[in-house]
Amino acid sequence: MRIAMISEHASPLAVLGGEDAGGQNTHVAELSAALAAAGHDVRVYTRRDAVDLPVTVRAADGYGVVHVPAGPAEPVGKDDLLPYMPAFGEWLAERWRVGDWQPEVVHGHFWMSGIAALAAGRRTGVPVVQTYHALGTVKRRHQGAQDTSPPGRIGHERELGRSVDRVVAQCQDEVAELVRMGVPRSRITVVPSGVNLATFAPLGPVAERDGVRPRILTVGRLVERKGFQDVIRATALVPDAECVVVGGPPAGLLETDAYALRLRALAGSCGIADRVKLIGAVPREEMGRWYRSADVLVAAPWYEPFGLTPLEAMACGVPVIGSAVGGLIDTVVPGRTGDLVPARDPEALGAAIRRLFGDRIRRFAYATAALDRARTRYSWSTTAERLAGVYGEVAAVRRPTRVVA
Ligand code: UDP
Repeated sequence: MRIAMISEHASPLAVLGGEDAGGQNTHVAELSAALAAAGHDVRVYTRRDAVDLPVTVRAADGYGVVHVPAGPAEPVGKDDLLPYMPAFGEWLAERWRVGDWQPEVVHGHFWMSGIAALAAGRRTGVPVVQTYHALGTVKRRHQGAQDTSPPGRIGHERELGRSVDRVVAQCQDEVAELVRMGVPRSRITVVPSGVNLATFAPLGPVAERDGVRPRILTVGRLVERKGFQDVIRATALVPDAECVVVGGPPAGLLETDAYALRLRALAGSCGIADRVKLIGAVPREEMGRWYRSADVLVAAPWYEPFGLTPLEAMACGVPVIGSAVGGLIDTVVPGRTGDLVPARDPEALGAAIRRLFGDRIRRFAYATAALDRARTRYSWSTTAERLAGVYGEVAAVRRPTRVVA
């Protein structure tokens, strides 16, 4: 099929670890590669955020990336992108109307892409599939007044869910949230993200370790809701363990990052400054080295729409201890591949890590089961196959082209 992916702020070609570059970039890149490998013709449309970007680039993995001129050709935070979405949608519609390539389906990633995808789909008769990656209702609940999303986000998300041809949710927790928001259950299909089983595997290079300390690894953009502060507090409860934090700005810029400085200060006040290491952003291809060096991956988000890092660790044969939120509830099987504890509870986290580190047999059993679960259920080719099924279903329904002036 000819498939258009819209990912307005998250380019599949971006460097990861920065504030707005994380799971969605990986998801779109891996999914597009898996669909291309299965013989589909995939183009990813992302906002042009630098003057020197060519309109079209062919990614090494066999899909095209199109840089859409919508708003200034410079980085703009994702919370400020909404005003440019009508122009984004207009540009897509025009291109598909007069160009020599028209998609059979368009898949919006994140709500703002959905707005552009829906506008273009309505003008050209192309069916629209939507994946939110994160929901405004959840963000508002957890961040309250600190939520910097545009004020109309929740209304837009509800409207999108009621208008698109299909909503693809990433986990069961998201389905419940969407239904509470007023999106009909019959429009929702669950297709989880996958993990690259070639990049993430138990055998391969391993990042250096510092002596004999058991290693707690935690990975993600350095933002508060990822719960790194809880992981540091939990580390203080695990004798001798070291805590390695991967992600955030590049290593050279950590010294000036406000949140990184707060984490350092917290480690100091817990008396474990020498046991906490901030690594900064690591290129995607080097992530496997860090997972393989760990005794456990601890993912302690306050909320998490899906969470790729637990799956990546599992595919490397590393047990996961995480918060019982979002996608982790589906990916981690407590007592078999890891453990889940309530979010924002460093005591419970520390106790779970201590129990794992004190029981070699449990650690080995979790590692084996984690690897098995990642391999049997979460390959990108499985995700791509299931999505291609969804695309085929929505494309089979004939819809009129409604040309909107
Ligand atoms: N990642 C990376 N380098 C880093 C930090 C993270 O390549 O320094 C990758 C990580 O391997 C994963 C993604 O960024 O693929 C983070 O996805 P996740 O779903 O865990 O979190 P999000 O950023 O979407 O909130």
